[in-house]
Amino acid sequence: MTNKYIYFIANWKMFGGLNSLNSVYKVIKFFKTFKKNKSTKIIYCPPNTLIRPMSKKLKNSRIEVGAQNCHENESYGAFTGSVNSIMLKSVGAKYIILGHSENRSIGENNKLINLKIRSALKSGLKVIFCIGETLQEKRKKITKKVLNKQIQSGLFKIKNKKNIIIAYEPVWSIGTGLIPKNKDLFNTINFIKKKIRNSKVLYGGSVNPKNIKELKSINNIDGFLVGGASQDSKKFIDIIKKTYN
Ligand code: PEP
Repeated sequence: MTNKYIYFIANWKMFGGLNSLNSVYKVIKFFKTFKKNKSTKIIYCPPNTLIRPMSKKLKNSRIEVGAQNCHENESYGAFTGSVNSIMLKSVGAKYIILGHSENRSIGENNKLINLKIRSALKSGLKVIFCIGETLQEKRKKITKKVLNKQIQSGLFKIKNKKNIIIAYEPVWSIGTGLIPKNKDLFNTINFIKKKIRNSKVLYGGSVNPKNIKELKSINNIDGFLVGGASQDSKKFIDIIKKTYN
């Protein structure tokens, strides 16, 4: 772990209703007395419908809220069903996940992701930029080439990268229970850090209380993007605690 903070980002995906907010109380309570509170960043990224109530609930807790995607247009417009980054910021989002493979797989390309990142930064959101190779690309041994392309195109014309956090998420690892081998993960994180100097690089993909001991031993990772396990407060707290033990 190389930076000031260790990040724990909860990606709730398309899960959760108003009653799911009750489970966040456990995390607030835990975090209040957690001795690593000052060097830990917890960011909840719920569905858009929960951003406002969640940010109210998290007020004064040092836990922040983010969104999971946005339209690329900064201004308002006739885009039925869409929400832009300004709207997300106005209801309490401080961060936004962009480039997630679940959105890439339904048609988001690097160019569109670049427009979204630029619009989100302009609106004052911090961006959690997801990159990662598919299983097929891993088998073809073109992981670095793929990541390089995602980085170059996704960050095209973005000079100031200080509000961008990279989340390396191998697609084959998301929701599958599989994680990369330690050495591969260390090398890939290093590769990304060389491409984007001074960047924080997180790992995401099937992080859970069982494999966190293994993952935290990789000492160039700056934190974790947690999907499935973050919806269960007990598991999420366990992941955070075990990262320091
Ligand atoms: C994700 O979707 O960003 C993710 C990391 O999911 P999971 O932890 O469920 O693999």
